[in-house]
Amino acid sequence: MHPEVAAYVLGVLDDADLQAFERHLDSCERCQRELKELQDVPDLLDDLKLQPSASEDDDPPISMSR
Ligand SMILES: [Zn+2]
Repeated sequence: MHPEVAAYVLGVLDDADLQAFERHLDSCERCQRELKELQDVPDLLDDLKLQPSASEDDDPPISMSR
């Protein structure tokens, strides 16, 4: 797959790359299909991110003393 597709879905492309990719997307059926598949991924990434960050937040019970 083109790495730009994932970057586009994750919203990490800067303006120039974004415009270039959207222009490419217009003429690239493969990227259009990959884009549709990848649009489900951010949800999965959110789930993965929540697990470690949640355990960090829950970690210090002592900070309650503030
Ligand atoms: Zn493409």
